[in-house]
Amino acid sequence: MIPRGGNLLIILSSPSGVGKTTITKKLQQKYSNFKLSISHTTRPPRSNEVDGVDYHFVSKDQFKKLIKDNEFYEYAKIFENYYGTRKKNVDQTLKKNDIIFDIDWQGTKQLSQFKNLNFIKIYLITPNKNELKLRLLKRDENTKEEVEKRFNSFDEDIKHWNDYDYILINKNLETCFKQIEQIINTNKIKNSQFFS
Ligand code: 5GP
Repeated sequence: MIPRGGNLLIILSSPSGVGKTTITKKLQQKYSNFKLSISHTTRPPRSNEVDGVDYHFVSKDQFKKLIKDNEFYEYAKIFENYYGTRKKNVDQTLKKNDIIFDIDWQGTKQLSQFKNLNFIKIYLITPNKNELKLRLLKRDENTKEEVEKRFNSFDEDIKHWNDYDYILINKNLETCFKQIEQIINTNKIKNSQFFS
C-alpha cells in the first residue's frame, strides 16, 4: 500500500515526443518539493540519459526478478521494453515530497486501482498528429524505426484519454506549464484543507 501524507501524486502521460520530460524537469527545478518517480526500464539509455537520474537501467533478467519479487506498484511492456515503478522508491519519496509519475496509460490504469489515493492524472498532447511526428523526428536520438513505432502508438494511446482528469495541449511550453501549475496549486489547496 502506498503511504499517504498530504503530498501530491501527479501522473503525467503523453505519446512520446510531446514534451513531458521537459515539463517534469522544469517542475522539479521550480519546485524543489517535486520529485520524479524514477522508473526502472530495460530500454538502453539514450546518449543524454544518466542511470539513476532519468531511469534505473536494468537487464531483462533483473526486471523479471523484480516482478517476481513483487517489487513494482505497476509495470508495462512498451515498444518491446519493460518499464516499471518500484514500490521502495515511491514510498521513500512520498514521505517528504510530492511525486510526478511519467508513465503510460497502462501504468496509470494500474495505479488508479489504489482507490485510497488521489492521483491527479494529466494527459499531454500536441496540437495535431503531424506536429507530433515533427517533434519525434527532431529528437535525433530516435531511429526512423523508433519514430514510426512511437508515432503509430498514438491511435492506441488516445483511446485511454478518458482515464485522465485533464487533457492539455502542449502548443506552447510556457502556457502548458502555467496550466499545470494552476492544476497543482488548486489541488494543493484542496489537499491542505483535507489534511489540516
Ligand atoms: P521513453 O522510452 O520515451 O523514455 O518512454 C516510453 C514510454 O514509457 C513513455 O510514455 C513513458 O511515460 C513510459 N514510462 C516510463 N516509465 C514508465 C513506468 O515506470 N511505467 C509505465 N507504465 N510507463 C512508463
